[in-house]
Amino acid sequence: MERNPLGKTFSYLLTESRTLIDTGVPTDNAYKGLQRQLEEHGLKPQDIERVIITHLHNDHIGLAQTLQEHGAELVASRVAAEKQAQVQEEYRNLYELNVEETRLFGGAEYLNFLARFVYAFRDVPRPLRIDRTLEDGEIFSLDGFSFKVIWTPGHSHEHIVLYDEADRLLFSGDHVLPKITSHVALHSYDHRDPLGEYLDSLEKVKDLDVETVLPGHEWAFHNLQERIEQLRAHHSRRLQEMKDTLKDGERTVYQVGSRVHWDSRPWPEMSFWTKRMAATETYAHLVYMRNRGEVKEEKKGDTLYYRLA
Ligand SMILES: [Zn+2]
Repeated sequence: MERNPLGKTFSYLLTESRTLIDTGVPTDNAYKGLQRQLEEHGLKPQDIERVIITHLHNDHIGLAQTLQEHGAELVASRVAAEKQAQVQEEYRNLYELNVEETRLFGGAEYLNFLARFVYAFRDVPRPLRIDRTLEDGEIFSLDGFSFKVIWTPGHSHEHIVLYDEADRLLFSGDHVLPKITSHVALHSYDHRDPLGEYLDSLEKVKDLDVETVLPGHEWAFHNLQERIEQLRAHHSRRLQEMKDTLKDGERTVYQVGSRVHWDSRPWPEMSFWTKRMAATETYAHLVYMRNRGEVKEEKKGDTLYYRLA
């Protein structure tokens, strides 16, 4: 698998309440890095009282269980806690679900390749035990700090951002990043409209009075509203670009994906895993347009086809 294009994940330490917002990847190196940085504040991992996680992606929860074993309380959205059970269920036949999805997306030529990685789909992650759950709109107060929890589904369904009104800070996780467009994707077995949710979630944070945004990756930034406008414009361009690929007839998800521009690298140079990610992103856009009557979806045999409505 390719390196995470997002690079580093930020972990934020609220010193007075000994709280961490997100943790890095689950590697020894990341743990040593965290230890070293905590030492600069005279703290050890055992001193961390709680870890708040914005969403359940590996680069954000990687060290959460380790810190929990050292005594930290694990805090996440209620949706994150509910998702633990669903994910365990999904993992029971994740490989079969992915075979079905590959066919639905029109990627039958990749099935032999996928079969070589059955083992990777059988590797069920240990569920997180979330000690305290947060509700949308809840005010969460800690020593020296108080913030509003805002549920922002889209990049992932359980995603929350934390808004500190007094200091005009927004811990944005992966909801709004300064340069990279958050990956908004959908698996065929998820039955959601994540792009619709994502665009609604951008609206939810757009009018907040924010001086500084502290995201999960890249760098801190100040132009929240402008950035949100850019992201909305990006997705409408993207939707149009995908629609344009349907002008001369119906196409599968993989066909649409192979005909649009990708920032990472051209389609023919992508590994299967990157194509699969690109296909789930394409599917999220097609489902968005299908739900709004802009494209028609038809299942023929095991495969979905899209055409202009
Ligand atoms: Zn993420």
